[in-house]
Amino acid sequence: MARYHGPKCRLCRREGIKLNLKGTRCDGEKCTMNKRTQAPGQHGTSRRALSNFGKQLREKQKAKRIYGILERQFKNYVNEAMKEKGITGENLYRKLESRMDNMVYRSGFAVSRAQARQLVRRGLFEVNGKKATIPARTLRIGDTIKPVDFQKIHAREGFVLPDWLQANVKEKTVKYVVLPSMDELQERFDIQAIIESYSR
Ligand code: SF4
Repeated sequence: MARYHGPKCRLCRREGIKLNLKGTRCDGEKCTMNKRTQAPGQHGTSRRALSNFGKQLREKQKAKRIYGILERQFKNYVNEAMKEKGITGENLYRKLESRMDNMVYRSGFAVSRAQARQLVRRGLFEVNGKKATIPARTLRIGDTIKPVDFQKIHAREGFVLPDWLQANVKEKTVKYVVLPSMDELQERFDIQAIIESYSR
């Protein structure tokens, strides 16, 4: 699937927030957002007030960029979330968090979601004891992920395992134990604005 391969820091400057797309560099002094926060391009210094439509669009872009998802797949997630029972925003959030690449990242086995995607594609993880190579795979409660070869894993320092995941240090596995709730939303985007943008 086609993917954005341009400069990642540019995306943070566009959104005006740290999207944490470059792993350890994002936590250090070298983060571009510590030096240049204006939007890229000729008119980057003048951030005009956004219309309601413009704000919704920016929130959608933030979420897609954080999770590394393109429009078609993102729209599918929103449509599925709308059809399910419960709060649409929460349904969408759970779909994003339940992706295999995100679970690898949340488990601290990669420094970024982009790296998690690469590691999954290279066949470096098992789900419930079987090799799993599709980063977009949706994991379910009870599923367990495990690195095939720990030597090739770049464990992330200082990460905090969310409450909805449970680590088994002895077996070197992480289990999906409960659905994440909106209280645990760590990323900085307005999920309600995103739903509204697709509800027109
Ligand atoms: Fe964004 Fe900073 Fe990471 Fe670059 S280093 S991707 S600007 S958070």
